[in-house]
Amino acid sequence: MKKTKRTDSQCDALIAGAGFAGLALAIALRQGLGETFSVSVADPALGRIARADDLRASAIAAAARRLFETIGVWRAVEGEAQPILDMAVTDSRLNDAVRPVFLTFAGEVEPGEAFAHMIENRLLQAVLIEKAREEGVTLCAAAVSDSDVGTERVAVRFADDGAAISARLLVAADGAHSIIREQADIRIFGWDYGQSGIVTTVAHERDHHGRAEEHFLPAGPFAILPLKGNRSSIVWTEDTHEAARIVALSDEEFHAELERRFGLHLGEIEVVGARRAYPLGLFVAREFVAERLALIGDAAHVIHPIAGQGLNLGLRDVAALAEAIADAARLGLDVGGADVLDRYQRWRRFDTMAMGLATDGLNRLFSNRSDVLRVVRDIGLGLVERAPALKGLFIREAAGLTGDVPKLLRGEAL
Ligand SMILES: Cc1cc2nc3c(=O)[nH]c(=O)nc-3n(C[C@H](O)[C@H](O)[C@H](O)COP(=O)(O)OP(=O)(O)OC[C@H]3O[C@@H](n4cnc5c(N)ncnc54)[C@H](O)[C@@H]3O)c2cc1C
Repeated sequence: MKKTKRTDSQCDALIAGAGFAGLALAIALRQGLGETFSVSVADPALGRIARADDLRASAIAAAARRLFETIGVWRAVEGEAQPILDMAVTDSRLNDAVRPVFLTFAGEVEPGEAFAHMIENRLLQAVLIEKAREEGVTLCAAAVSDSDVGTERVAVRFADDGAAISARLLVAADGAHSIIREQADIRIFGWDYGQSGIVTTVAHERDHHGRAEEHFLPAGPFAILPLKGNRSSIVWTEDTHEAARIVALSDEEFHAELERRFGLHLGEIEVVGARRAYPLGLFVAREFVAERLALIGDAAHVIHPIAGQGLNLGLRDVAALAEAIADAARLGLDVGGADVLDRYQRWRRFDTMAMGLATDGLNRLFSNRSDVLRVVRDIGLGLVERAPALKGLFIREAAGLTGDVPKLLRGEAL
């Protein structure tokens, strides 16, 4: 990292990146530690309209929803969030006339609490920005360019004007291509899948009744995720070249390809959103921390969206780091000190690796054309279908309520 010559202002925590992870952490810290704990969030995207270009919708697991509820943002989006009431899993070839359902999940994690909700990213993002402002988080529309670690503080410089700010802790929430991670020389472990996820939104004639569908096709999972109204979000995995071809098709051709996979069980369908392909990969940072630095969210890990858990994993980082910082601050300890960072890293690395490898295994098991593997996995799905206790465990796992769950994800304030 380069040397910084001047320090224009200072704060306790500087968060680079105003995605879901960065903003949720900023809000949680202000609420937990009060006005004397100053938090700044820097992101060049803050100068643009909130995430209008993000077409995605996210499955928010029950634990992540509890975090949003606890930091006071859920109420504002609740009316737009679609609870997932059940889920059906099929395993078939593209041209199979029928797709038998091998596995279904239904039920609540607690009475009246769905195991996940679908919400459009741009809605959640706008509410988080508004809440961060309300809580007195300083928002800077600038990119962090580099940093210089001293004994008590880290000096962070912005790309546009070279101005600097010093903080006791720098949090890298700057996404999968984190330059902060790169400059701290933290290497990553992982690989590209050679697959892309095509994302779009469709309207359909009939009600989805809150049902999510995951069709395991040979090229990868094709997910139909219910949105409010007669609409669904599509995450459609294909080999990267095929995904690029499909995205470039005319509207009529795209519709025809989509309908081959979607089917007609919800009546006529119409594509109502733009389409975009996101390249898919798996990586986990070898370290989640360095001197006065913590990585959270996609800056620390990216996983396959097969189980819709990427953001949920990032929010587990948020909850764990916020709790480690708050506990230290209340004891008068250094919030950017090694003890805080070690605690955070111990809490999060193993869990992240386990989830990364589980999604990787699922993708390998299902995204292939082997008939032998198809028989094996269908027997496996059938066994799970007939084991209510195992299903219950999967639901709690998908809801993010297993393991050493930090306070915010249990719905408790810091
Ligand atoms: C197709 C697809 C579907 C998905 N579906 C789901 C799902 O259903 N459920 C789920 O849990 N997850 C899902 N995910 C994963 C989820 O979208 C991501 O994990 C999540 O958005 C990451 O949030 P983040 O805040 O860590 O990073 P990001 O959202 O990437 O935010 C990073 C921010 O950092 C900013 N930035 C970049 N560089 C700098 C810099 N130098 N200085 C300051 N700021 C900077 C960027 O402008 C950006 O705003 C999906 C992913 C894909 C690809």
